Order: sequence, then C-alpha cells, then structure tokens
Amino acid sequence: MFIQIKSIFKYPGYILDLIYPRTCILCGKTLAEGEKEICSICFLDMPKTHILNPADNPVARMFWGKFPFTLATALLVFDKGNKTQKLIHQIKYYGHKELAVKMGKMLGAYLQNFDLFRSIDFLIPVPLHKRKLRMRGFNQSERIARGVSDISKKPVFTNVLDRCHYNPSQTRKSRYERWENVADIFRIKEGVQLQGKHILLVDDVITTGATMEACAHALLKIPEIKIALVSLASA
Ligand SMILES: [Zn+2]
Repeated sequence: MFIQIKSIFKYPGYILDLIYPRTCILCGKTLAEGEKEICSICFLDMPKTHILNPADNPVARMFWGKFPFTLATALLVFDKGNKTQKLIHQIKYYGHKELAVKMGKMLGAYLQNFDLFRSIDFLIPVPLHKRKLRMRGFNQSERIARGVSDISKKPVFTNVLDRCHYNPSQTRKSRYERWENVADIFRIKEGVQLQGKHILLVDDVITTGATMEACAHALLKIPEIKIALVSLASA
C-alpha cells in the first residue's frame, strides 16, 4: 500500500492520464505521454500552403500594387472546418497560449528557408485593441511571434503599434466594410525608432489582408522602413 501511494506521487502525470485520459483538442484521440494539447499526428499533418516563393504566391498577390513589401507568406491553409480553423479557434477562445508559441516555432522553422528572412531586424505582432487584450488575456499573434523568435533569435517588438479603434467581430462584414473598419485603426507609438529597419509583421490568420494593409499603412510613415508580412495561416 505504501509503495502504491509513493508511486502515485512519483508519477502523478502518468497516473492521472490513466484516470482522466487527456485528449487531442483537434482530433479527440488520447494523447501519448509527452504530447501536449495536440497529438503528433495532427501536428505533422496540419494543412500547409507549401509556399516556396515568398515574393510571388497567393498571399503576396493580395498585397501587390497596394504598398511595397519584401516578402509575404503563410504556413497553413485556413478553411472552413479544417484543422487550422479548429487550431486557431482553440488558441483564441480556449486560451491555448502555449500552442500558439509551438505553432510559431513551426512557422519560424519554415521562415528559415528563405534568404529574405535573414535580413529581418525585428518581429512586430499585429496588436489587439486594449479591450480585446483584456478580455482574451493574451495576443495570439504575439505568442506566434515569440515562437518565431525562439527559432530565429530575432527580437519581438510589441511597443510599436497601437490599435486605436475597437472593432468587435469582423466575421459578417463585406470586404469593403472590413477595409473601412481597419483603414486608420493603427498608430505608431511615440518615440519608435525603426528608420531603415526591415521588420516582419506577424499575424495569426490573413483573410482579406485588410488588417495587414492597415498596419503597413501606419508603419510606412517611418522613413526607409522595409516591411515583410507573415501569418500562421491564410484563408
Ligand atoms: Zn490529434
């Protein structure tokens, strides 16, 4: 009896797994020892964009002719009901912050393939409005950027952009309305010194590109700045 109690204290995770099996938040299968939140199969099997050219691809084409940028790409395909949609939903609405960092690391490993990525000076996550940040408790884009930073060792700057207007949900708006909604919502914070720097804007999902465009609109007021764009997923 004494030995049994002792072993429960020694292997609490293992014993707890037997009593309350932990399951993958994407497929529902029981997680193996060492797996966290999502199983290895889901992690390796996420739908990828397979974008190999960071200057010419469907994400980059969204921004062609709108403003100058060096590279634009995304790692995962976001589709209605697919694993990426579930993943983003779990991160944003169920507080899986660590999962956002983990996916950011996968994104960072992918970005290391591109020569253009090497000249990036700083990572800047798309900010949330203060109110939304308070409600959610964290900015998923910042967590993704932290993961990219873990792999690339490039610093994350969160003190650059301010999201000045609160726009609740964008899901049921037309492309034009969304654009109107985000046109002037970002502002450069005072004292930001990014002249001549090459920065990478990091977002969770690109849908219409309006949010990235609005961030770029604000950032391009800095002289000689170069902007690159990346999101974990693109619709
Ligand atoms: Zn799974």
